[in-house]
Amino acid sequence: MVRVSTTTPEWQTAESSDTQPVASPLEFPEEWTLSTSWERAQIEADQGGPITDAERVVWLSEGDPHRVVFVLDGATLRARCSCDGWHYRDWCAHVASCWWRWCTGAIAVTHQQTGREYRTPPEWLRFDHDRPDRDQLDGLTAAELDAFLTCELAHVGVREYARRTGRAPGTVGNLLRRAREKAHTPTPHAGGGEA
Ligand SMILES: [Zn+2]
Repeated sequence: MVRVSTTTPEWQTAESSDTQPVASPLEFPEEWTLSTSWERAQIEADQGGPITDAERVVWLSEGDPHRVVFVLDGATLRARCSCDGWHYRDWCAHVASCWWRWCTGAIAVTHQQTGREYRTPPEWLRFDHDRPDRDQLDGLTAAELDAFLTCELAHVGVREYARRTGRAPGTVGNLLRRAREKAHTPTPHAGGGEA
């Protein structure tokens, strides 16, 4: 048998579960747009609110309050709910409500490593198999990760990103180069970078 890795990320360890929520990357079930959960999400008001940067209470008008983890992590969105629906189906009205409200600009979602707040789902967000592995992005600093997500995955140009973050393009170029090296991502142009 494979031994338990000693490099388990801290969000997977039981000791840290009080502060670092355990949650898997969100995967939308098949035909989720036809689900009752999605319908409820769009119809029912939510009188809950944030608990931490990663967790909130979702209290839909036709139900009880539930604790929901909804946080950006690496290049993914992690979600989990305390309700039975989530437990059995990995999908529920509470998580659906967070997604709906995020898409419509009603809530902001925080990135666990970079601390950046996103008012709508970022373009780099991946739900399918072409998202980078969590391990692949583990060694990146917050600044490198932010540059990687924005420029490498969302294809924002280096100059544009530098302008948005108030930094010199050279600084951003260096960040991005280090991030790519660490992530071992094959780049389309050797030594390239100015997308
Ligand atoms: Zn739920």
